[in-house]
Amino acid sequence: MGYPDCCVADYHESQRAFDEMFFGLIKRAAKDDIEEMKRIVRDDDQLSPETPEEEELFRSKFEMRPAPFTSFNMCTSCSNSPDSPAKALSIIYGALANKVDAELADEIVYYQAQMTSGP
Ligand SMILES: [Zn+2]
Repeated sequence: MGYPDCCVADYHESQRAFDEMFFGLIKRAAKDDIEEMKRIVRDDDQLSPETPEEEELFRSKFEMRPAPFTSFNMCTSCSNSPDSPAKALSIIYGALANKVDAELADEIVYYQAQMTSGP
């Protein structure tokens, strides 16, 4: 697919940080008791972030920055730059969508706008 390395690395780093935060929540709720940690996971207890850092990680996990006309989220750097690798890829796929069918391109733009607008 040719996704930019920076966006792929950002995805994996944010996933790692989220997982670490999630397991930290479980460990704290279980007071380091392994059997209680297993029970929390097994029973799917709903845990909430407690510190500002955890709340920020939780919020950022669901932040969408889709690269237009692709299926990946841009890293912050690509999102903030007008000529990033992700945006260069979006231009290529946008041109392809328009060449195939202009209505298809409009539908993709509409769909991606719905994804980022929230409930
Ligand atoms: Zn990037």
